[in-house]
Amino acid sequence: MKKIIIFLASLLIACLALPFDVHANSTVILVDPGHGGIDGGTGRGPLLEKNLNLDIALKTRNWLQKSGFTVKMTRDNDVDLSSLYPSPIQSRHKRDLQNRLVMIRKESPALFISIHINSSTQPKDKGPLVFYAVESSEGKVLATEVQSALNQVAVSTQRPVGRKNLFLIRHAPCPGVLAEMGYVTNEVDAKRLLDATYRDKLARAMAEAVKRFLQLST
Ligand SMILES: [Zn+2]
Repeated sequence: MKKIIIFLASLLIACLALPFDVHANSTVILVDPGHGGIDGGTGRGPLLEKNLNLDIALKTRNWLQKSGFTVKMTRDNDVDLSSLYPSPIQSRHKRDLQNRLVMIRKESPALFISIHINSSTQPKDKGPLVFYAVESSEGKVLATEVQSALNQVAVSTQRPVGRKNLFLIRHAPCPGVLAEMGYVTNEVDAKRLLDATYRDKLARAMAEAVKRFLQLST
């Protein structure tokens, strides 16, 4: 009997200790690595945006799955999405974005994060920067969480920026942000972005921010 009680007690402790939220199971998060395939995005030397976006997105998926979320991705390899669905749109870039939107609508996630890398003519511009649709109050809350989590990793003080004209976050049926991970044109950011451990910290920070946002909105 004593053995059974010890067994049941240890089972209970094991259950309580699981880093797993049962409610997270049914929650779908969509992660969108920007660019891909023929579209490399920005770049400098060994840094190519499409590859960094994908790597950070896969790491983010990993952290979200560890917390019990169902994660969908617009791409999980090096492809552009312009021919994913048939479309009369002429511009390859617009078709790519349109198809990402179609995917978001199909998956109807609780939220999405588009992952990008920034560049600037000003080499001193530095640190992660998160954009949200200016008319979305939920998007702003999500952006604030993601920005603050990324700021902690990058030791930065950037504030999220509301935009009217960013296609995906403007048209998506759920809260979403476009998160720039840093500038390839800044020496410090470029060096950090080459470091897989740093990229994993950014990914983990975003996964934690998603959790906090969903706790705030329930
Ligand atoms: Zn980009």
